[in-house]
Amino acid sequence: MVKLIDKFNREINYLRISVTDRCNLRCVYCMPASGIAQKDHSRILSFEQIYKIVNAASGIGINKIRITGGEPLVRKDLPCLIKNLKAIDGLREIALTTNGIYLSEYAGLLKKSGLDRINISLDSLVPEKFEMITRGGRLQPLLRGVESALSAGLTPLKINVVLLKGFNTDEIPAFVNLTKEMPIQVRFIEYMSTGVDYLSYDELFFSSKDAKNIASSIGKLIRTENAPLGTAEVFRIEGFRGTIGFISALSSPFCSTCNKLRLTSDGFLRSCLHSSKTINLKQALDKGASQEDLANLIREAVILKPESHNLSDHFAGKVSSVNSTADFEPENFSMCQIGG
Ligand code: SAM
Ligand code: SF4
Repeated sequence: MVKLIDKFNREINYLRISVTDRCNLRCVYCMPASGIAQKDHSRILSFEQIYKIVNAASGIGINKIRITGGEPLVRKDLPCLIKNLKAIDGLREIALTTNGIYLSEYAGLLKKSGLDRINISLDSLVPEKFEMITRGGRLQPLLRGVESALSAGLTPLKINVVLLKGFNTDEIPAFVNLTKEMPIQVRFIEYMSTGVDYLSYDELFFSSKDAKNIASSIGKLIRTENAPLGTAEVFRIEGFRGTIGFISALSSPFCSTCNKLRLTSDGFLRSCLHSSKTINLKQALDKGASQEDLANLIREAVILKPESHNLSDHFAGKVSSVNSTADFEPENFSMCQIGG
């Protein structure tokens, strides 16, 4: 089997694809209230172009993709894209990250189209707080979406909770308790600075270590065996049906096992969330790139992949913003444009 190996001997087999920069919510940590200037449709990858990229990528070692955004479910006919991608040889898994607002309408169709699993972002279980954090979103449709995804068999289902100190950290026990009856994984995510922070980053950052301390007040956290090498450290509590994950991008970076590339909705392939070094696949496709040309460009992106993002220096208070190494050119970015 063909493998994509980078300069640091990491196998790169995972591509995250942002299918749109549009969103029906305005989460306070992701966008300004006015939203982000949206790109004209002609600058966004068509479904056909996304198919060509994934086809080329799967031929050289990518076997897992995640569809994200913006909000992927606002892009018209998303199930058709998933159905076409599912037919590509060599793809082992297609996953989706969504804010869940439209999920109850789409869960069955998405499953039928070939979607394997789903991650849903949910930062508060209190309707008023949910509305505040998403600037107007309603919690009920999202909770219905969770139920629909479970009934449709989009499992294992993961709930992503970005922790903001003093805002939703008091809800850590309630989120942990969800895993008592529900076969889901609740994942606590450290708030990440993007350089264009819409909130006071230093005041709101809450570490996984502190989150674990609070979570363990509900029951002893037992590390799950056979947890795959990934971004989350995963635990369970004796007798609970679900699991609890902690994603510590800052306090304990997982760069040494990073297996990802990211494709932005306007066709730039990024080898690291935090690096500005990108390859413009849309431009190549617009000029008629062949499958082999695309494969070569993807290999180039893999060569550009830096060893690490160095954000931990920021976490340790050594620098006030991300710093640069020969391999790493930090750039301010907006999570909704890259897909998280
Ligand atoms: N709209 C979809 C959603 O919210 O799930 C997909 C795109 S969103 C950019 C992907 C993920 O990035 C979400 O789980 C969101 O919570 C997370 N995210 C956005 N901004 C973040 C930040 N500054 N720090 C950590 N996670 C962030
Ligand atoms: Fe939209 Fe997702 Fe960003 Fe929230 S986190 S504003 S739902 S893209």
